[in-house]
Amino acid sequence: MKEKKGSALSCLTDILNKAFFIDFAKGLKVTLGYNMSKIVTLNYPDREKWIPYQRWRGLHTLNRDPDGRELCVACELCSRACPTDCITVIPMEDDTGRGIADRVAKVWEIDLVRCLFCGFCQDACPTTAVRLGREYELACKDWSSTKRDRQQLLEEPEIPETLMGGVYKASFVFNKKEVKVVPDLTKKRKNFW
Ligand code: SF4
Ligand code: SF4
Repeated sequence: MKEKKGSALSCLTDILNKAFFIDFAKGLKVTLGYNMSKIVTLNYPDREKWIPYQRWRGLHTLNRDPDGRELCVACELCSRACPTDCITVIPMEDDTGRGIADRVAKVWEIDLVRCLFCGFCQDACPTTAVRLGREYELACKDWSSTKRDRQQLLEEPEIPETLMGGVYKASFVFNKKEVKVVPDLTKKRKNFW
């Protein structure tokens, strides 16, 4: 008897649901909810690019002091602290004023294939010469590009240190040497997260 009552009730609910489009209304509510919510899809790489926040640990940079002298004194502490032994530092004497001391790096090279981006090298550096930057597009087609030398790392990073992270308008650049997404640092997408 109880079973008969239960099945009649469920049948009635089913009819009411169909008559008043209840399921349709529930589905529509979910769809409209997503339409009103913030868009989180990123149009990468053609139209937008994510720039990480300052604490991001990406490609290394070698820094200079305000007078343009290299901060690295080739003490090799970064190389010793590195758990994967992927930094090569070869020091040399140089009194031309290139560095903040007479001891400078003749070779400072990193093997990005072995790097864990742990930041130990940055922590070990006594002169703040090495920093992990915000460049994260490190894919390459040949093995030689997996190593970065002193000259490459001394180049001014494209993203200023003071710039806040977020999503910026971007254009997709393709040439024989590289494929790159170039952000327009003046056009930040608001309220992305
Ligand atoms: S980030 Fe870590 S693994 Fe990479 S070079 Fe620095 S210490 Fe080595
Ligand atoms: S980057 Fe820093 S820790 Fe590494 S060799 Fe230069 S001064 Fe020493």
